[in-house]
Amino acid sequence: MKLSKTNFLICLDCAKNAWLKIHRPEVYKQKALSSFEQNIIDTGNQIDELARGLFPGGVLVESRDDAEYTKKLMENRTPVIYQPVFATERYYAVADIFVFNPEKNVYDLYEVKSSTSTEENGGRKAEDYLIDMAFQKNVLNDLGVEVGTLNLIRLNKEYVRRGELDLKKLFLIENLTDKVNEKLEDVKNKMEGAYELLSNENEPKGHCDCILKGKNSHCTTSWYSNSDLPEYSVHEISRIGTSKKKLAELVDSGIFSIKDVPEDFKLSDNQRRQVDTAQSGKEYIDKKGIVEFLQNWKYPLSFLDYETYPSAVPRYDGYKPYQQITFQFSLHVIDSHESELEHFDFIYTGSGCPDEHFTKALEVHLPKKGSVVVWNQSFEKSRNEEIGQRLLEYHDFMQKVNDRIVDLMIPFYGKTTMYDHPAFKGSASIKYVLPALVPHLSYKNLYIQEGGTASDTWNRIVSGEYSEEDKNVKIQALKDYCHLDTLAMVEIWKVLKSV
Ligand code: SF4
Repeated sequence: MKLSKTNFLICLDCAKNAWLKIHRPEVYKQKALSSFEQNIIDTGNQIDELARGLFPGGVLVESRDDAEYTKKLMENRTPVIYQPVFATERYYAVADIFVFNPEKNVYDLYEVKSSTSTEENGGRKAEDYLIDMAFQKNVLNDLGVEVGTLNLIRLNKEYVRRGELDLKKLFLIENLTDKVNEKLEDVKNKMEGAYELLSNENEPKGHCDCILKGKNSHCTTSWYSNSDLPEYSVHEISRIGTSKKKLAELVDSGIFSIKDVPEDFKLSDNQRRQVDTAQSGKEYIDKKGIVEFLQNWKYPLSFLDYETYPSAVPRYDGYKPYQQITFQFSLHVIDSHESELEHFDFIYTGSGCPDEHFTKALEVHLPKKGSVVVWNQSFEKSRNEEIGQRLLEYHDFMQKVNDRIVDLMIPFYGKTTMYDHPAFKGSASIKYVLPALVPHLSYKNLYIQEGGTASDTWNRIVSGEYSEEDKNVKIQALKDYCHLDTLAMVEIWKVLKSV
């Protein structure tokens, strides 16, 4: 076995997960990548290729195990090499860009990342980048290859596109040679430990460490390693991962099912309510709170939802890296107590920037007064603010829309919870709330069932990946998905009204 950089980094997070990836790939791959995860991989590849434009004219090592070709290119002093491959008996690394420095007669290494994290703002991620580069440097040291500087290329979150992409401004290059060198010895020890562990044919014994972490920290092979956990385990108690002592106490006492948490076990109000509803099977309803919450809403009621795509590379003027492109809305309107529900929608799949088309359509269809009902207001409000900043002529319109927004998630969220249901499982996501309160409506029969897939589908449509026929099917699927989001809000509102 040769230990790759990727597997080493996974091993640092969890040795068992890395072992399963190498020795039991059928377990590791059983849970398919989500659209969101696939999109992260695709974005990484796209950024890698784009960053090569900083050092044009390089030679690409096409095969990811062609260390011999890399060696030849280096012997010939090829000025720029993309994806050079290095392998020792134990380790294997593919760098992103190697640039020959004729003055020092060595190659400088450039590692490309699609994130905007810096050491100052990136916390753990920035630390991971240093470890990533230290792995590569250790492999190069083992091979006796002298390297010059070790550099990180990442996206500049302050860059605003105006006209053609300016790669020198889009990317930031940091020389991290000293910082990486400080980590070399520690990373070398860890590489040796990981190699010993992962080259062993026997599965690591003992408990899966995530038994002491909340559900959000469990990896994709958790179902295999924690197969004895009950369906609704204590790991799903809201924010239990941030109160490690509580979780450890439960686990040490052999309490794994949420149904077995003792009545006097100390929990936060939210956690206690979740446990109580799970144990009793009964809803928690604060009628007075709901009445007060709804009484300020004004007709006509406009139930509004946006779909967006966070493009790493700014596609249009005025956009920064990862700024959301708002391409679609669905709107259900109820004029008064007695009136019928009306539906309007908009989706932009043209080749330009959707901002103006989107805003004009919203201006046409959104009633001029009344409450605008959304789910998780910070999302729609932020999009409106950003569009208002890019299109100054719509700034006031967007500001006025924001002034009318009310958030239907509030009665289901955190400290403001007025309605809880055992099937919410501590979540305020509409994907949990809807099936519990309105069982006849479901995302399960839709082609697109969650926002990540919607986002990815739109990107593939505008990137021209579908035939004309397929494209129309996908556009309809996007409309059906967004339509259900606002219809779901209408039905949830009706349930609140009825109590
Ligand atoms: S659930 Fe946690 S400890 Fe278990 S294999 Fe996954 S990451 Fe590792």
